Amino acid sequence: MIDSVHTPAESAGGGLPAARIGRFLAIALALASAPLAFAGPAFTMRIDDNHSASDWLRVADIFERRGVKVSFAVVPAALSEEQGRCLKKLSDRGHLIMDHLPNHAFYKATYHDRAAFDRVKSKPFVQEADEKEMKVLFKCEVDPAHPENRRFRAGVKGGILTFADPSAKKIVYCRFVGLKGRDGVYGLKPKGDAFEVLDMWKRPLAEKIDMDDCEVVVYSPAATQPCDDVLRELAGISRERFDHFGLPRPTIWVRPGGWEPGVDWKSLERVYGREFGYIGADSHVNARQGENRWSTGYDKMVFFDQGKDYTPEGLVDEIQKSLAAGKHHVRLSHMWAMNLSGGMKEWFEKTDRFAGLLADRKVPTQTMAELLEARFGRPSAKRK
Ligand SMILES: [Zn+2]
Repeated sequence: MIDSVHTPAESAGGGLPAARIGRFLAIALALASAPLAFAGPAFTMRIDDNHSASDWLRVADIFERRGVKVSFAVVPAALSEEQGRCLKKLSDRGHLIMDHLPNHAFYKATYHDRAAFDRVKSKPFVQEADEKEMKVLFKCEVDPAHPENRRFRAGVKGGILTFADPSAKKIVYCRFVGLKGRDGVYGLKPKGDAFEVLDMWKRPLAEKIDMDDCEVVVYSPAATQPCDDVLRELAGISRERFDHFGLPRPTIWVRPGGWEPGVDWKSLERVYGREFGYIGADSHVNARQGENRWSTGYDKMVFFDQGKDYTPEGLVDEIQKSLAAGKHHVRLSHMWAMNLSGGMKEWFEKTDRFAGLLADRKVPTQTMAELLEARFGRPSAKRK
C-alpha cells in the first residue's frame, strides 16, 4: 500500500491547496494504519529441534501474548501426527516453521512416501536402504587432498582412539575423519580423554580397530560436502512432510549441530534456493557468518538456555545493547532446562518474564524470514 503513495516532493507541483492537504491527510492516515514495518535491527526468538506439542503450544502462547512470533526449526521426518497438527496451528497463528533437515542429519533420512523411497533406493549415492522402515543412508564423497584437511598422529586400541597431541581434540568436533591405510569415513564419539571410532552414520564398528601409530585425517567440512543429489533428496523429504501436515513449504534451512558439518552456501543456494524456493539458510561453510542470505542472516547468535546465572532482565539488557549497536540479535533455545534446579517449570517461568520484558521495553522483534528480508532484501528465488 505504501509503495503507491507519492512522496511530498512528487505531489508538490500541482493541484489545489485543499486537494494537496487532502492527499497529505490520506498519506498520513495510510501510514498510521499500516503495520509498522521495522527497518532497523530487531530481535529473533528461535527454537530448534522437535518438542512435545504441549511444550510448543505453551512457549508459543507466552510469546504470542506479547505480539512476538517465534521461528521454529523442526526435524520434519521425525514429527508425529500430533506434533504436525500442532505446528500447523502455530503456523496459522503467524509463527515461522523452518527446515532443520528431515532427520537432523545429512547422510541419513527416513521416507514416508513409498514412491519416493522406491525411486531413490538403488541410486549410486545410496549406501544402504531399509525397505521396511523406508530408511536410507547416503554415501559421503570426501576429498582426501583438500588443503583445509588437518593431519594428526594417534593410536587406536580396541576401537578407542587417543591423539598423540591432546590439542587435536578441539579440532575434531563436528568433523568426519579418515584413518590412513583404511578405506571409509569415520566419526569420533568423545569418550573421556579419548574417542570411540564409529562409522560415519554414528554406528559402532563391527571390527574393533587396533593401530599403534596411525595418521588421522580430520576432514574440513569443505571436503565432506553432500552431492546435489543428496541435498535434493533431503529437500524433497522435508517438502513432502510439510505438505503432509498442511504447512507452508519450508523456505529456511537450518543446519543441525553436533555431529554434522555445515554445507557450502553455494550448494544451498543452487539446490534449496533455485530448485526448492528457499530464501536462506543458517550455514557458513566457505562464507563468513552473516555474509549472505545462505550463511546466516545475523551477526550474533547466542544460546538462550543459559543456565542458572541468566536472568530474563540480563538477557533483555544484552539484546537491547546489541540492537543499539545496530546488530540483529538471535537467541537460540533448545528448551533445555538441565541447568535449572526448577526444571521446565522454571524454564517456562523465566521465559514468560523474558517475553514480558520484551513487550514492556518495546523491543522490536522479527522472524528469521523477516530478518533475512531486512538484511538482504526480497529473495529472487523461484519455486520449482
Ligand atoms: Zn538441532
